[in-house]
Amino acid sequence: MQYRVGIGYDIHRLVEGRRLFLGGVEIPFVLGLLGHSDGDVLLHALCDALLGALGLGDIGEHFPDTDPQYDGISGIELLKQVAELVEKKKFKINNVDMVLVAEEPKLLPFKREIREKISTILRMKEEDISIKAKTNEGLDALGRKEAIAAYAVAAVVKGDD
Ligand code: MG
Repeated sequence: MQYRVGIGYDIHRLVEGRRLFLGGVEIPFVLGLLGHSDGDVLLHALCDALLGALGLGDIGEHFPDTDPQYDGISGIELLKQVAELVEKKKFKINNVDMVLVAEEPKLLPFKREIREKISTILRMKEEDISIKAKTNEGLDALGRKEAIAAYAVAAVVKGDD
């Protein structure tokens, strides 16, 4: 068996006039995340963790924000494309673990739906998908609600052929 792990990180600015997407779920909030995509930090960090585990670089290389075809692309669509790369490499995802750092809004009411979404796309059991939410204790840009950040770790496995 071949085991590999990857780590991902992302941060996006919170601004007015944008819808907020976290983990592929639209969350009612007065602010949204700025970006060429939908700014879904949680899924972007997760994509990078998966790409990292496979040694395939990062989402910026695969889906450059200078390329108009990725304008406004959803985190869900990015994750689907990354899931295909995992499959192509003949790896299976063992488990993923994520940390969202946001002063607001509270993620708890949406965690279930987010895990369901991710489990469908990655064809994993929900118990193998972990999401944790933290505040930044009022400190720095995250604490001032100027941004939301996320970390993710992914473990992948490949059986001996
Ligand atoms: Mg991003």
